[in-house]
Amino acid sequence: MSNRTFTMIKPDATQKGYTGAILDQIIKAGFAVKAMKWTRLTKEQAGLFYEVHKERPFYGELVDFMSSGTIVAAILEKDNAVADFRTLIGATNPAQAAEGTIRKLFAASVGENAVHGSDSDENAAIEGDFFFSKLERF
Ligand code: ATP
Ligand code: MG
Repeated sequence: MSNRTFTMIKPDATQKGYTGAILDQIIKAGFAVKAMKWTRLTKEQAGLFYEVHKERPFYGELVDFMSSGTIVAAILEKDNAVADFRTLIGATNPAQAAEGTIRKLFAASVGENAVHGSDSDENAAIEGDFFFSKLERF
C-alpha cells in the first residue's frame, strides 16, 4: 500500500472551467498536493503516457483528446492513495460512476471523463516521474 497517486484533470474539464471545483473535491477528500503543474501534452507525449493502451481500439481517439488542450497534472498524498482516489473519481464511464464522484459530477462520456487516476502504486510512481523532476516535488 502506497501513500501517493498521480492525477490529471483532463482537457474537457479544464475547458469547461471545472478545474477549481475538482481540486476542491480532491483537497476536501483529504489528499495533499505534493506537486502540480498546468501544461499541455503534445501528441507524442500523450501517446507515450498512454502507451499501455496502444492496442486498444480507442487509443488514437484518447491521444488526440489528451493533447487537445490544457491539463493539470498532480502528485497526491493520502493513506491508501491509489485506491481511495479511484473511489473518489468513480467508474471510467460516468454513466456508471457512483453518485457524488468526480466523474459523475463533471464527466461527459467514457472518452472525455474529466480526470485520470493511477491504477497501481507502480504506475503512480511511473506517471509522477513522467511529469515531475525531483525539484518540482516534495
Ligand atoms: P484513467 O487511466 O484515465 O484514469 P481508467 O483507468 O478509468 O482511466 P482506462 O481503462 O485506463 O480507464 O482507460 C484510459 C482512458 O481511456 C479512460 O479514462 C478514457 O479516457 C479512455 N477510454 C477508456 N475506455 C474507452 C472507450 N471505450 N472509448 C473511448 N475512450 C475510452
Ligand atoms: Mg487507467
